[in-house]
Amino acid sequence: MGNFEDLTLKNLLENANIGVVIHKWDTSVIYANPTALNLLRLTHEQIIGRDAFDPQWRFIDEAKRALASEQFPVFQVKRFKEPLQNVVIGVIDSKQTKPSWFLLNAYPEIAEDEKNSFIVVTFNDITDKKSSFSFQSIVDNALDVIIVTEADDISSPMGPRIIYVNDAFEKLTGYSRSEAIGETPRILQGKETDKNELKRIRAALENKQSICTKIRNYTKTGHPYWLSLNIFPLTNKYGEVTHFAAIERDVTNEIYASEQLESNNNNLKELKNNLQELVRIKTQELHDANKALYHHAYHDDLTNIPNRRLFLEQVEKQISRAKRVPQIVLIGLLDIDNFKIVNDTYGHKLGDEVLKKVAECFSLFFRQEDSFGRYGGEEFAFCILLENDKHAFNICERLRKNIADLKFEVSTNKTIKITVSIGASVSQASPDTEFNKEIEKADQALYKAKENGRNRAEIMIE
Ligand code: GH3
Ligand code: MG
Ligand code: MG
Repeated sequence: MGNFEDLTLKNLLENANIGVVIHKWDTSVIYANPTALNLLRLTHEQIIGRDAFDPQWRFIDEAKRALASEQFPVFQVKRFKEPLQNVVIGVIDSKQTKPSWFLLNAYPEIAEDEKNSFIVVTFNDITDKKSSFSFQSIVDNALDVIIVTEADDISSPMGPRIIYVNDAFEKLTGYSRSEAIGETPRILQGKETDKNELKRIRAALENKQSICTKIRNYTKTGHPYWLSLNIFPLTNKYGEVTHFAAIERDVTNEIYASEQLESNNNNLKELKNNLQELVRIKTQELHDANKALYHHAYHDDLTNIPNRRLFLEQVEKQISRAKRVPQIVLIGLLDIDNFKIVNDTYGHKLGDEVLKKVAECFSLFFRQEDSFGRYGGEEFAFCILLENDKHAFNICERLRKNIADLKFEVSTNKTIKITVSIGASVSQASPDTEFNKEIEKADQALYKAKENGRNRAEIMIE
């Protein structure tokens, strides 16, 4: 090739891999290079001479809205006499359903005479690069809040700077896009925003890591709400973190519902505990009542020692035990001497006191394995098992003396004493041993004690 000046423009255009269409000032086409014909799927005849009003042109914008002929790039250049740069435009032709997408530039070649002025339009096919759907519109229209901030300055008070928010953000926070952009997400925080969670978020941002958390934020009017949020770093093609994106969801209702649930659960737990406690108390009361009933059935009301019924039950067990070993069975009957006179002289109330004190004396005198009880009126009975009979009399005597030592106040500075008579039967337990026979013998011995002057013990040893 010779001189650069010798290059022919026509050759350049014919071989360029970019569509070039040249319009006259009245918008009619005077030239289209082969790439342009190819991209527009038109023949030379179908394009040359056609102006912008020709019905074959169907252009759309990025939002897929049809363009009126005044909005065609060629008209814009003609009207403003200014170049148009990097306009994305879709062309619909009858040969296919989907539009072809072009990145288009246009400029005016203005001569003094309009007849010699031109409008030059160049374009590339970007159909392959243009996705069939827009991620931007997904983000814009998502129901979750989406915020993008810069990553270079995250420190307070202004950082990190918000550069994008979606519709859901505006709706939830009450801040418009223009109010939010340039601000920091800190405008959404308030006094009940958990400081520890904020520290965790900050640490994640500093380390350029993602984080999931729940925090309480506030609307523009100060109304609190709960956010579940996921913040993650965005990188450029060199792998450098340039931005953070946050996807956030209002979980106020969920949190409220789970708080309600927990509070209901706690109420239920408390109710259950109360019920358990009530059942426990009622069971205890029932148990106590049964115990009291049992006690009442087997004890004497006045003296609170075993009554005749309990004494008889216990004595039967003792006799059985004595038969197994075998042992000596001592069965005694004790009767207060001249008790009628005590009652008559000092009153029935004192008589009752005497009976209670004698009963107390019994309780102290006998051991766990012995049995005793109020047998009737002023008569008490007892049963002791012994290894031999040599202490039998002494035992009865000791009991008698203990009771003889008791003092009863009948008036100020005046006390009286009482005496008792004891009759006892002492026998080696054998298969023939029977309580009735033994108590009969004890009664006879008691009778003998009374006969012999009272205040004494008589025993019948077999
Ligand atoms: P003895 O020495 O022969 O046994 O004479 P006594 O007076 O003790 O015998 P008696 O059988 O004649 O009298 C028994 C008295 O015991 C009659 C009754 O009023 C009295 N008595 C029986 N049970 C009670 C009681 O629960 N309380 C009181 N205060 N007195 C009672
Ligand atoms: Mg009596
Ligand atoms: Mg008596």
